[in-house]
Amino acid sequence: MTSQQASELQQAILRAQRDGITILARGTRKSDGARVWGVTSKSTHDHRLHQVVEVGGRLLCDCPSRVICKHRGLVHQDLVAQASRQPAAAAVAHDEQWSNWMHGGEW
Ligand SMILES: [Zn+2]
Repeated sequence: MTSQQASELQQAILRAQRDGITILARGTRKSDGARVWGVTSKSTHDHRLHQVVEVGGRLLCDCPSRVICKHRGLVHQDLVAQASRQPAAAAVAHDEQWSNWMHGGEW
């Protein structure tokens, strides 16, 4: 990943921590088996969840952010934390997925 993308991700994680957003739900989308996360949003008062979906090794969010949003930052952090608790082989596989995501050109 480029240093700009890395700093965007870092900013996203910091915003997530600052706003105190959390992952309320984890699941699998029935239609295609994609992993999905429900992330709280500080900016709404109706307890709406933002939906982050992992598609082809990339994280997509339903919010209108044009840069790496705090929702994706939070989910990424969660994935990294999970990978660190798994055997090394799984962590490597995740790094490759993350690399694909960062070079996907959707930023
Ligand atoms: Zn988002």
